Amino acid sequence: MITGATNILKNAGSLVNKAIEEYGEEKGVEYPNTAYDLPVFYAFLEDKVKTIGKIRKILEEIKESIKEEPTYENALKAGKCVLFAAEAIEALKYIEGKEHRDAEYTGFIPDDLIRRLGLSLVDGTIPGIVVILGKMKTGKEAKKLIRSLQERGILCCLCGDIIDQLHEEGVNIGLDLRVIPLGKSTEAIHALNFALRTALIFGGLKRGMEKEIREYMKERVPVFVISLGEKGDMRYGNEAGVLFCNIPIVTDQEEEEIEGRYISEKDYKKMIHKALELAGIKIKVAKIDIPVPFGSAFEGERVRKNDVFVEIGGGRSIAFELLKMGTEEIEDGKIDLIGKDLNEIPEGSTPDLGVIVEVYGEKMEKDFEPVMERRFHDFVNCASGIMHVAQRDLIWIRISKEAREAGFLLRDIGTILHGKLHQEFSEIVDKVQIKIITDKERVEKEIIEARKIYREREEKTKNLTDESVDTFYSCTLCQSFAPDHVCIITPERTGLCGGVNWMDAKTGYRINKNGPNQPVRKDTVIDIEKGEWKEVNEFVREASHGKIERVCLYSAMENPHTSCGCFECIVAFIPEANGFMIVNREFGGKTPCGMSFSTLAGSVGGGVQVPGFIGVAKRYILSKKFILKEGGLKRIVWMPKSLKEELKPELKKRAEKISEPDLLEKIADETICTDPEELVVFLSEKNHPSLSMEMML
Ligand code: SF4
Ligand code: ZN
Repeated sequence: MITGATNILKNAGSLVNKAIEEYGEEKGVEYPNTAYDLPVFYAFLEDKVKTIGKIRKILEEIKESIKEEPTYENALKAGKCVLFAAEAIEALKYIEGKEHRDAEYTGFIPDDLIRRLGLSLVDGTIPGIVVILGKMKTGKEAKKLIRSLQERGILCCLCGDIIDQLHEEGVNIGLDLRVIPLGKSTEAIHALNFALRTALIFGGLKRGMEKEIREYMKERVPVFVISLGEKGDMRYGNEAGVLFCNIPIVTDQEEEEIEGRYISEKDYKKMIHKALELAGIKIKVAKIDIPVPFGSAFEGERVRKNDVFVEIGGGRSIAFELLKMGTEEIEDGKIDLIGKDLNEIPEGSTPDLGVIVEVYGEKMEKDFEPVMERRFHDFVNCASGIMHVAQRDLIWIRISKEAREAGFLLRDIGTILHGKLHQEFSEIVDKVQIKIITDKERVEKEIIEARKIYREREEKTKNLTDESVDTFYSCTLCQSFAPDHVCIITPERTGLCGGVNWMDAKTGYRINKNGPNQPVRKDTVIDIEKGEWKEVNEFVREASHGKIERVCLYSAMENPHTSCGCFECIVAFIPEANGFMIVNREFGGKTPCGMSFSTLAGSVGGGVQVPGFIGVAKRYILSKKFILKEGGLKRIVWMPKSLKEELKPELKKRAEKISEPDLLEKIADETICTDPEELVVFLSEKNHPSLSMEMML
């Protein structure tokens, strides 16, 4: 370890000297997007280190502290030197804003990401962090190791040849999958400066509080290192740095062990187990017994068109999900399959699907049904190779060839739902019984019943208004896909996925006080027409990690509500018509703004504000608060015929209320036109109100 440290220091020293020759001693160095300059220096030194000259001075000073005699104490001292040296080497790569980050490696991890990950660490979605150095014997083993860490929800930071091994095995890696490729050697420092910053950010510790920070690392930060394969001096040096940070190491090599700190273990399964124990990490998630890997790390994974085995719903077949209260008689864990499963269905087909889940529990209430049902989306998404979008009778599911090859069946969806409902709602759920239906006739029959229930749920909330309540609710469920997106849900503005109304969100909060639904007070009105409140702004600012400053709930043009990706419809401004068009997810054709739903969705989603474009739930179109600022329903100039038909009775009622009884006939659809010029001609013929309303541009 000590030789390694000396070598890394030498290397850093010559790089620093070279940089000084080129830029001069006073040249500033810092990482981008952090409040902690060079976090290692920040954590362990009281002095500010912001220039190359200062780095050189520090490196020269600490060199003296390295002692040859191989004791644990000396190894730790050497370790500290390695940390400084590695940080210096990596920081130099960022000099002059030279972005070291290339497509392949993540490099330095910015603060905002740590804050975001921090929340998951807090609520246990990420139970721990592992830094993997080196490589496994074979690519297959590397894949297995990563998979089993992912299944446990562990965030993996990779440094070394294991990255190539995973690439060769076709394993997708990246931040969204919680497998972060840092780089090849000293980049490992980015995992350590990440860990150190958790102490600074969440532990409230200050610059230079070395002792407290090392203590915090030991007690609080659930991190460990797996050091794989043959090691050179460099690696031993890195290990010393890790030990100095009080992070335990498990290695697959024969080594002299240090109790509680440094352990040898060759079997990768036992290795993970031992490492978790060393780092004091408890995994509360019980294993879901299905043939594909399962864990929150797979939530953001997409199944691409070419990899699809079967596709369900999403306009291609009839599909729905329903959760309802059951009686005490139901049998926990019973999964009935009615119709054929995937092993009897040819590749490329689009089966119909009905998923009916009955839940019994002494504390279960009818109000909880939609809240629990909406979670199916994230539960099912946790299975690797399964993609699940939207909810109720709008679901769209893709099952990959890889998942099918591994033996995945539709019945496994039942296993997932049974397991996760018990896990996530353990307070409420005693028994879960499931029907998976693929028989066409049966699906067609049951979907009628399901739709009746969806409607009843909606009726229930109909009489609530935004004025009649003093609290709105947030939903941040979609942050798994759109990390800065937050829905503000009011009685008259349903979450844009259509699956979470105000009542659901309120119930969600009752079930889980730390969950995605939080109360948002609305005491201080800023602009009632635009739907802007002081407290709502404050909440959104926080929940969007500072990305969104203001939100006007009733406006599509000014600080509009952001969109994640699962909106039922998109409302888009058409300047020529002085109005808006609406297109729903099911409509595949062209629209007057020149784009199809999917093209539009690409630019509207992702949790950013795009004035003129908002993602909305179908129900919101019928709301009195629908784009109130711009004039409401009267501004709608185009929508697909099918959507018009679907909403017809209620749209008609709304039209009468706003004294535009013929509005529906004045709204164009694809059978009339799909281009803006023709649209304007049609609107003038019909004397559409938008043309005589105030100009929006
Ligand atoms: Fe929640 Fe909004 Fe996502 Fe719906 S779209 S699940 S309301 S965050
Ligand atoms: Zn969403």
